[in-house]
Amino acid sequence: MRRGFKAEAERTAEEIRAAMGKRPADPIDALELAQHVGAEVRRADELTSLEKLETLEELQPGAFSACTFSVGSRHVIVYSPLATIGRTQSDISHEVAHIILKHEMKTVETVGGMAFFTCDPDEEQEANWLAGCLLLPRRLLYLAARRGLDAVAIAETYGVSEPMAAFRLRTTGVMRQLEAARASRPAP
Ligand SMILES: [Zn+2]
Repeated sequence: MRRGFKAEAERTAEEIRAAMGKRPADPIDALELAQHVGAEVRRADELTSLEKLETLEELQPGAFSACTFSVGSRHVIVYSPLATIGRTQSDISHEVAHIILKHEMKTVETVGGMAFFTCDPDEEQEANWLAGCLLLPRRLLYLAARRGLDAVAIAETYGVSEPMAAFRLRTTGVMRQLEAARASRPAP
């Protein structure tokens, strides 16, 4: 990821959440995020059969989670109905992040007879990072950790997947910040 991107993503997420009228510690719904950027969201089984999706999932687990189609200036996010709610939140937010970052879907990959558009690997990483910032911004994590919530509790409270909560706790350094704040407090 290019230098400065992580801090930028954190700021972008804060701005977007504020524009949506969310306070720093409010949970966010990926569908609302999509609506905010003007994207339409569809379940993949509205476009193809559930059976086909299940066969594909057996063939190559996780091959299809979500993707975005651009029709002129219109974005349509299609997501798999087979994933957990937490996972779906991440997948849709990832697609929203691509839209916010104005990434162009260029590579077409075919999996199980279905074609998907993907971005280059750098852009995929950026979208993952921004999606994490949107769902669990640093400020939210700090406040949650201060209340004693761990990754499991954060996942439950904010409707995200546990790996996402653990990843954000680890990479934002909020635990270290919290320990430092506690250590500098004078003993009673
Ligand atoms: Zn992507």
